[in-house]
Amino acid sequence: MHALDDIAAEHEALLQFLYLAPVGIVQTTPDGTIGMINPLSAQLLMPLATDGNLVNLFDALDPVAPELRAMVAGFTAASGAVCDGHRVQLTAGIPGREDPRFLSVSLVKLDAERFMAVLSDITLVMRREQQLKQSEAWFNAILTGVSDYALVTLDEVGRIERWNASIGRVTGLRRQEVERQPFSILSRPDETPAERIDDRLREADANGWSLEDGWYRRADETRFWGSTMIAPLHDPVAPGESAPPGGSERRYALIVRDITDKRDAAEDLRRAAVTDHLTGIANRRAFFDAAARELERWRRAPRPLSLLLIDADHFKNVNDRHGHPTGDAVLRAIATTLSGTAREIDVVARLGGEEFVVLLPSTDVAGAAAVAERIRAAIAAIAVESNGTLVRCTVSIGISTMGRDVTGLDALIERADEALYVAKAAGRNRVKVHGACMAPAVG
Ligand code: GH3
Ligand code: MG
Ligand code: MG
Repeated sequence: MHALDDIAAEHEALLQFLYLAPVGIVQTTPDGTIGMINPLSAQLLMPLATDGNLVNLFDALDPVAPELRAMVAGFTAASGAVCDGHRVQLTAGIPGREDPRFLSVSLVKLDAERFMAVLSDITLVMRREQQLKQSEAWFNAILTGVSDYALVTLDEVGRIERWNASIGRVTGLRRQEVERQPFSILSRPDETPAERIDDRLREADANGWSLEDGWYRRADETRFWGSTMIAPLHDPVAPGESAPPGGSERRYALIVRDITDKRDAAEDLRRAAVTDHLTGIANRRAFFDAAARELERWRRAPRPLSLLLIDADHFKNVNDRHGHPTGDAVLRAIATTLSGTAREIDVVARLGGEEFVVLLPSTDVAGAAAVAERIRAAIAAIAVESNGTLVRCTVSIGISTMGRDVTGLDALIERADEALYVAKAAGRNRVKVHGACMAPAVG
């Protein structure tokens, strides 16, 4: 009674195991006739059961694995493993729509009459291997075909997995310097803090990539402006999940590209936008930007701030007598003199035509008048050569200074313009300060 209970319990347990096993289990006779089969096996083998009947395992597998029957026939030992993890391609798949399906078959001879087959679906495993092979091939193709990229793979915490020649080519760094190092080794310590590495890997997981420009270093400690892309090589990780599906590990591709040239081009454009094309000094727009910043500073902490408005005298005559190109040369000479006289903090610009401006931070009226007089004298001393004759030109300068009664930049310029008008009216080639009864500032 007891023994029967045990047998029943054992049988129950075996059935449970067979039905719930994550693998397919089939018991057959030596010729392949199926004695027992669990649901998963039936499911796995269904694509092969053309008539809907699964009677013989070797018959069912014959179209895709005819070798199995021969392996069994050739297995002469009383018991043991006939094959272990034998790979069988179940279906061809449909390119672009359906992956081919793969089955792993392990076959054990239990005794002369019984064989046990263990089947498992390895389609996902095979797909992953395929992907890895493809990414490997992809890397190799890129590595051999490009010259201005460094391309490396990163592990799950952003360490460089493999050194490759492209890092050496772009950065000059050697294998022992970068291998197993966090990818921040490629930039300077202050450019990529540790937490930034993790941020970028998580961003790549969330978006499929992470793009960022920044400074990168070369072995010789010079630096270059690089664009980096990090892309995950593993399957997408669901939000909140810590690992990719299928038990694979997180891996990333990091591509660093030296785009210093592009940055230089952008810098050229920016410079062109704020530079006066004729003289090379700041243009009107750049002046108003810089002046607005200075005024903002003045409002926060009022300190002397003065402005010189400079206009070439009788410039129309210069053009009329010597030609427009000579006029241009004179304007350039004036600009050069202004730049040469100015300090680093001063803003020197051509407002337009033959009119220039100099903004003098931390300079009171007396200081501005002194600067203006130096400028006036220096320009009066210039002689531009034109067709054998020396062309001279003078300037008149109006000065204004920031004060509580000055509402803003427009008012400051307007006052300087008024002073300039007085200087012109007084005979030109002179400096006038706004207010101060418009008396001569110097001399
Ligand atoms: P004033 O002393 O009263 O300032 O006399 P002016 O002749 O300098 O003044 P006006 O405004 O009558 O003439 C300015 C001249 O400057 C006229 C214009 O042709 C010339 N000019 C403006 N821009 C340029 C330039 O880019 N190149 C050259 N060569 N001449 C310019
Ligand atoms: Mg003029
Ligand atoms: Mg003018």
